[in-house]
Amino acid sequence: DTNVIKNFGSINIDNVYRLDRLPRAGETLVAQEFARFMGGKGLNQSVAAQRSGADVWHIGAVGPDGDWALDQMRAFGLDCSHIFRVEAPTGNAVITVDQAGENQIVILGGANQTLDQALLGDVLAGLGPQDWVVLQNETSFVHQIALAAKARGARVAYSAAPFDAHHAVPMLDMIDLLAVNEHEAAELARATGKSVADLPVDMVLITYGARGAELRQNSARLHQKSFPADVVDTTGAGDTFLGAFLARLDVTGDAEHALRYAAAAAALQVEQPGAATAIPSFDAVTEFLTRKAEA
Ligand code: ATP
Repeated sequence: DTNVIKNFGSINIDNVYRLDRLPRAGETLVAQEFARFMGGKGLNQSVAAQRSGADVWHIGAVGPDGDWALDQMRAFGLDCSHIFRVEAPTGNAVITVDQAGENQIVILGGANQTLDQALLGDVLAGLGPQDWVVLQNETSFVHQIALAAKARGARVAYSAAPFDAHHAVPMLDMIDLLAVNEHEAAELARATGKSVADLPVDMVLITYGARGAELRQNSARLHQKSFPADVVDTTGAGDTFLGAFLARLDVTGDAEHALRYAAAAAALQVEQPGAATAIPSFDAVTEFLTRKAEA
């Protein structure tokens, strides 16, 4: 059996409206521009892992309105044979952005919140020690998926985002890799009374935006600097980093390489607008790293 990254991940349609200013309660405003993007932390991570050379299954759910989302996912090259069709609408977000880039976001979990045993039973039964299971806080059944994964010897990677201590703390006993940004790290430290690097998880990955990233693997610590970037849009930077890191770790077993690759992928990703669409290909990242090594 080959290694597979099985991401039980959120799928969102982001509806983005550009306005002069954000609306107030009770107000109706006319937008200047509208665009629709695929989003969701899970989906971004799957696209990043896929583009970084891993074999990825994205496992999730879309609603009766899910054709556009499925077309987009296939265009990303994702294996969509484990995306279920449910009654609830596809997860979606209404994002208003003003001229200064300030935004307001409303998210509907929709189909992402229908993951349960009935939907996932067969996929869970097929998990094994060769698999990495990837989870975030944007779907239902996260805790139960982690339990099922551990029971079958799969390794579990978990992004504690959007942060919620009630969900995150009980996950700590069941995961092999915890991925957080510095804000989530601070909240988790408050909730547990321990520094995040000291949590009893084999691998803890903390990202610090432009200031880099740190991996604590058992007792060893690795630091990775961020590559300088001309930032256009950082949405999905953390997801790109995690997806790329996991893919390169899975393919090569080399954490140092995986960190450097992930930092390069994220630096290229923040230079483009959008989240999933902005994630660079393996070739683009490899070429970037070769140029850096020669410089
Ligand atoms: P987001 O919420 O914006 O999706 P995040 O808060 O989860 O991201 P960050 O820690 O901000 O995650 O960024 C993740 C990684 O992306 C960083 O470790 C770094 O490698 C890269 N990155 C983010 N911002 C920059 C930047 N300004 N310049 C270069 N690299 C960056």
